[in-house]
Amino acid sequence: MKLSLHRIASAHLLKGLRFRLAASYVLFFTLLLIVLGVFFKQTLKGIYDDQVRELLTEEWGAVKGYLRIDKGKIDWYYDTEDPEEAFIVDRLKQVYLLTDASGKPLEWSEKYKSEIGFDSPDEIRLALKSQKQNWTMKRSKQGVPYMIRSGLFVDDNHKSFYVALGRSLAESDTIVGRFTWRYFALLPLMIVSSSFLGWYMARRALIPVDDVARTAQRITGANLTAQIPSRGANDELDRLIDSFNRMIERLNSSFTQTRQFSTDVSHELRTPLTAIRGQLEVALLTAKTIDEYKDAMVDALQDVERLSQTIRALLLLSQAESGQLAIQWHVLDLAPIAADIVDQFQIPAEGARLTLTADLPEVCLIEGDRIQLERLLSNLLSNAMKYTPEGGTVHVGITCTTGQATIVVEDTGLGIKQDHLPHIFDRFYRVPTADQGPDKGLGLGLSFVAWIVKAHRGTIDVESQIGIGTRFTITLPAAIPAPDFELQQQSVADAAEMNS
Ligand code: ADP
Repeated sequence: MKLSLHRIASAHLLKGLRFRLAASYVLFFTLLLIVLGVFFKQTLKGIYDDQVRELLTEEWGAVKGYLRIDKGKIDWYYDTEDPEEAFIVDRLKQVYLLTDASGKPLEWSEKYKSEIGFDSPDEIRLALKSQKQNWTMKRSKQGVPYMIRSGLFVDDNHKSFYVALGRSLAESDTIVGRFTWRYFALLPLMIVSSSFLGWYMARRALIPVDDVARTAQRITGANLTAQIPSRGANDELDRLIDSFNRMIERLNSSFTQTRQFSTDVSHELRTPLTAIRGQLEVALLTAKTIDEYKDAMVDALQDVERLSQTIRALLLLSQAESGQLAIQWHVLDLAPIAADIVDQFQIPAEGARLTLTADLPEVCLIEGDRIQLERLLSNLLSNAMKYTPEGGTVHVGITCTTGQATIVVEDTGLGIKQDHLPHIFDRFYRVPTADQGPDKGLGLGLSFVAWIVKAHRGTIDVESQIGIGTRFTITLPAAIPAPDFELQQQSVADAAEMNS
């Protein structure tokens, strides 16, 4: 058990971000050190080789100055009394070979013969033919590397000879080898130290991520107020923290909305249900005649009707807000639609002794959903009539300008107090009856209106004065781009946001 727990812990560690960050850092650092090591080694070797090459070039010049071949007789022409000249000639003859054009050795140093061996006639022919500087690397039988400069030498009688001068690279190879060995011997130590550094740096870099994770663990449906403090560095992690905090805020507001919604719904359904139950119980206990039973049934039916209305409205609103009620986009003329709705409300308006007037343009083309726009106008008109006392006026006006249609529905009714205005688009929000007379609605009509306006990418404004009246102003864009799924989803999400 202990062993398997240990294994799970190590597997977790290996998969962790910290391990991967540190491992990438160590891998990169190791590769960099290897590349640097190889680069320095090559550079060092290059510097030594260049030095030897320069030396051999100088000696080649000296050969030309001091060597005389006259009718087969080889003579080194220099001042034997001058120690410097004697030294130069002596040095260049240490690894040296002179042959005739056919490759027959004429003069050589013992080192050249024993360590490198005479060059083959083919090699010599090729070198003479190429007529330029020949540089070759050769190894002695003991493995000592030599750099050889060879080429054509022409005597005073214009006869061709082959000369090769060599230099041992043993010393420079030892230095380069020593450097390489020491460098690569230190490499494991550097890798181990870089691993510790990488592990430490990855830990430091991930501390804020751990904070985010810990805060996320603390968050539950009941505790959505947690916020991660920003580090003030304005870097990627701060942006992550910021997005996380904003997500929590949105979740919080959506949870609050949902909680509020369930509370509202249960309250709305419980009230008529309790009333129905009470009426039926009273009827059962007290009613004696058929008429008394009938009265109780009629009352109960009215409450059942109200209950079904609430459920229907709720269903429609939840369909709208969850995106199931998609806008059916068509090019529509708003003027006849509004005229029809106003006509439908004329008789009820007369019944309520209200004057209903309309000021509509000939044509007003917009893109939208006919059914939803009819619902919007009906809701606003029925509200205006509900909250306007007898003798009042309700007016519908539409103006159409390029790119925008404006709908105004105004009444000379009770008006809404300023402190209620920001809430009238909330679900189930009704201005308390003491402020506004008899309680007549469900408090869902304006939520739906707000959703329709948002889904059409429009705006809604309300102005109201107690005792003077209320004016709703809606603007809709005259041309709405071709609908797509995303657009509808966005509209629904926005409408939900506005209702919150
Ligand atoms: P309801 O079904 O109660 O009318 P709404 O969502 O349509 O629900 O309206 C919310 C509240 O806004 C109403 O309860 C009412 O108090 C107020 N209201 C809406 N329209 C008007 C209006 N034209 N005049 C006065 N008050 C209004």
